[in-house]
Amino acid sequence: MNDPFRISRRLADIKPSITLAVTARAARLRADGIDVIGFGAGEPDFDTPEHIKDAARRALAAGETKYTHVAGTLALRQAICNELSSAHGLSFGPDAVLVSAGAKHSLYNLFMALLDPGDEVVIPAPYWVSYPDMVKLAGGTPVIAPTRVEEGFLLSPAALAAAITPRTRAIVLNSPSNPTGAAYDRAALEALRPLIEERELVVVSDDIYRRLVYGDFRFVQPATLSPKMASLTVVVDGWSKAYAMTGWRLGFAAGPKRLIDAMSTLQGQSTSNVTSIAQAAAIAALTGPTECLDEMRHEFDRRRQVIVPRLRAIPGVTCFEPQGAFYAFPDLSAYLGRRAPGGQAIVDDVALCDYLLDVGRVAVVPGSGFGAPGFVRLSYATSMAAITRGVDRLADALAALS
Ligand code: PMP
Ligand code: GLU
Repeated sequence: MNDPFRISRRLADIKPSITLAVTARAARLRADGIDVIGFGAGEPDFDTPEHIKDAARRALAAGETKYTHVAGTLALRQAICNELSSAHGLSFGPDAVLVSAGAKHSLYNLFMALLDPGDEVVIPAPYWVSYPDMVKLAGGTPVIAPTRVEEGFLLSPAALAAAITPRTRAIVLNSPSNPTGAAYDRAALEALRPLIEERELVVVSDDIYRRLVYGDFRFVQPATLSPKMASLTVVVDGWSKAYAMTGWRLGFAAGPKRLIDAMSTLQGQSTSNVTSIAQAAAIAALTGPTECLDEMRHEFDRRRQVIVPRLRAIPGVTCFEPQGAFYAFPDLSAYLGRRAPGGQAIVDDVALCDYLLDVGRVAVVPGSGFGAPGFVRLSYATSMAAITRGVDRLADALAALS
């Protein structure tokens, strides 16, 4: 029978983003007047700093309301090059940079421009939910390389070697990581370097959380390891997390001109430039005062130091100490296989998260969405009051399982 709205085969194997889905469910419950504490989306609770908003207001008043260059205004791309130079000592020209509608869009453009059917991309697990689906959308094949909490959730050379085949084109490195908060120091990156260089893998370095590191940890950009690594690395970064600018939809990729040109062609035939006003704000973010960034980072760190011990105090729960980002990723597998007071079986982490939301009134994301069944993710980019009350609710709901 004819089906006018038959959906393309391309979408058949693509799941909705579970981080966004959990957040939407919590918002719906709240709209119904139900008091839910949300640890769902990784989104800072802070407002965008005022000087950044001012720049957008000024751009609007000055009539900066037209199309810009597809890749972003020259002024913004130059500001990004300056930032890459001062932050990492990396040298890029403005024509090696593409500004897109979020780092998510940058990654999508990248995989679309790079991959052919059958090309494989190594993705260390636990991974951010969108990488495997984006690779699949681009016709590629995600190859999941497991990491172990005992090894700090860092990819070992052995696990990378086991994941590599003759079809491997790229590896995704996300440091600090969503969802674990694990971050690669120089030694951890050096351990992977020989394999990456020998096989000439493209390093997709998702640096979106690089400013949010805590304690003594110092972020290391993989391209700084060697000239060869510099020639293989594509830097992906953005404004959403460190500048509290999730809704502005701004991100960028910097890499070899040939790849950036192909990504720009795709963007020019799909979405064109990022909103002109947002681009003006992005320049102000990169060139303006940085105290506000430090304040937000310190506050995230304070929350980290509250949420992790509280989670660890729940019987049967272990929790890795994150070095960056704003996620706690406890192992709740001790609670799987139990029964809720209402009788439903907690068969897996998805059922557990449903129970925690429906009964416990606390929204957390199941680890299976990140390739880590038995774990759950809590974003601590929320107020201290929500953290303490929310973890109490979590503990009570878990204690009610039999
Ligand atoms: N990479 C990672 C690891 C993320 O957690 C996010 C958060 N959404 C993104 C990329 C994309 O961020 P955005 O599109 O808001 O820049
Ligand atoms: N990256 C954030 C998260 O993991 C925002 C939602 C999304 O884009 O996945 O929660």
